[in-house]
Amino acid sequence: MNDFPVPAPVVVPVRGRSGRFTVGRVFCVGRNYAEHATEMGAAATPIFFMKPATAVVPAGDLPGPSDDARVDHEIELVLALNADGRPTTPEAARALIGGYAVGVDLTRRDLQSEFKKAGAPWEAAKAFDASAPLSEISPADDVGHPRAGAIWFDVDGARRQDGDLGDMILSPERLLIALGETWRLRPGDLVFTGTPAGVGPLPRGAQGRGGVEGVGEISVRRL
Ligand code: MN
Repeated sequence: MNDFPVPAPVVVPVRGRSGRFTVGRVFCVGRNYAEHATEMGAAATPIFFMKPATAVVPAGDLPGPSDDARVDHEIELVLALNADGRPTTPEAARALIGGYAVGVDLTRRDLQSEFKKAGAPWEAAKAFDASAPLSEISPADDVGHPRAGAIWFDVDGARRQDGDLGDMILSPERLLIALGETWRLRPGDLVFTGTPAGVGPLPRGAQGRGGVEGVGEISVRRL
């Protein structure tokens, strides 16, 4: 074999800008809203995991995993980093955030429960193809740094998740400081900041719609 094809980068549109955001790594945190931490039956400590950049897809129709999979919706505020560093202060952490998006951390809860019982890694439950549908990115220059406001998700028009950014256990700045203890953060990193209570199934054919006040909205349909 002589040629190794260069994979196409995963890119996300940026609202009001011609440039696009090229996705590097996708960090996620589990249980970052107190009420959701309670419903998941766990202590409120940050648990980091990752999805591949290839999990990021635009809003719209989602090719899902097999039809008997239980896929749960987790609506999340997503940080889009445009600088590198290992911040140790909230000010330095905030300086890494170039914009915000609305993402859905899709989760195969059936598998995740089995893996948890077995003490096994979560990849197949969290990092499958199209497991991270993402809205366009809103530049922080335009929307500021929202730290309070509604975060919500509807399934077929019924409200399932109804939280507030102000109820995060670790603020976006604190999450970046915690991540920086293990990883040097880079432009292209996305950080899913956790989901409020009310997670539940997104059945095949169902229409999901969610949003974060001051950032944007996302609509998805599981095929
Ligand atoms: Mn999540």
